[in-house]
Amino acid sequence: FFEDKKLNVALVGLGRYANYMAEGIAVSKYCKVNGIVTGTPSKIPVWRKKYNIPEKNVYNYETFDQIADNKDIDVVYVILPNGMHKEYVIRAARAGKHVIVEKPMAISAAECEEMIEGCHKAGVQLAVGYRLHFEPYNQHMMKLGQEKVYGEVRYIEAGLGYNSTNIDPSDWHLNPELSGGGCLQNLGVYCVQGARYVTGLEPVAITARFGEKLYPDVFKEVEESIHWSMEFANGTIASCVASSSFQIDRLFASAENNFFELSPAISYGPFQGRTRSDEFDFPQTNQQQVQMDEMAKYLLNKKTLPDHICGLEGLKDLRVIDAVYEAARSGKRVAV
Ligand code: NDP
Repeated sequence: FFEDKKLNVALVGLGRYANYMAEGIAVSKYCKVNGIVTGTPSKIPVWRKKYNIPEKNVYNYETFDQIADNKDIDVVYVILPNGMHKEYVIRAARAGKHVIVEKPMAISAAECEEMIEGCHKAGVQLAVGYRLHFEPYNQHMMKLGQEKVYGEVRYIEAGLGYNSTNIDPSDWHLNPELSGGGCLQNLGVYCVQGARYVTGLEPVAITARFGEKLYPDVFKEVEESIHWSMEFANGTIASCVASSSFQIDRLFASAENNFFELSPAISYGPFQGRTRSDEFDFPQTNQQQVQMDEMAKYLLNKKTLPDHICGLEGLKDLRVIDAVYEAARSGKRVAV
């Protein structure tokens, strides 16, 4: 089934998540970190040594486009601040490389559309790093909901929050140009995903409100917390929350004949899940490794990526996020 070769990945932006990703790739079966793109020269020797990366496969943000001439890179993985995703995805596509981009795919649906178009024109594939699509506890939630194992899902609660009130004031997450917003973009995107993949449906309308700022000196230009509801055409409601000042990590679904839930649901695990009567028992996986090996199966074999991990999936989430911001700002119910 597989070619002999591994999928050669170049990581763009060597920050916190790139380190997790590289460690997952290092223990993967079908992928290798074979290139890096960084603006911080001091990271180069550390990364080259740790992952055995040839000097010719090292780029900075100015030389990045030369990656077009490098046959030893198959896919570019963009792990930059959200506001930089669009530019680097499109540049990678123009260089003729397949692209994986971290969540949120971009900072607006309009940007996602440009990225999809750019990759389509260049004839390359575009995936979003939605690791939970390959994670057994979340896959079980998808199955229970979409296959209506306990009847129709009527109500969902999804929440993700961490206390980041001691964040460095220069962190890009606090800068709307680089982040596209606060906890909704960074954490809430998982709640939007969760509600969509448990129901298998797209929301039709949103109501939302920003939470009170308890730390206005920290969260000057982005929301500290946000609450929103997603209405689906069949009447199902998802009640969601994201926060940068309190802890929550939960995906709950209520169906006609039972409820099912995960908590923790979204972070790196270990996950726990149950129905009214049973505990879930699945293997805890290395999410980055599994994601990359699954994506490699398509990219190495020149097969089209399934819809649920491609750019279109990221676009659908950003359409909802755009509507959540509009609803919170206007106080009105907004159609998606
Ligand atoms: P970090 O701030 O830790 O890393 C971002 C890196 O981008 C920096 O280290 C830097 O790398 C590079 N960079 C280039 N320009 C800038 C700039 N102007 N400001 C800041 N950094 C810059 O962020 P994360 O790794 O936490 O997040 C990166 C992306 O990954 C985001 O889109 C985030 O949403 C996503 N993410 C996904 C997770 C998941 O579970 N799927 C978890 C965490 C984050 P260099 O020095 O090499 O140039």
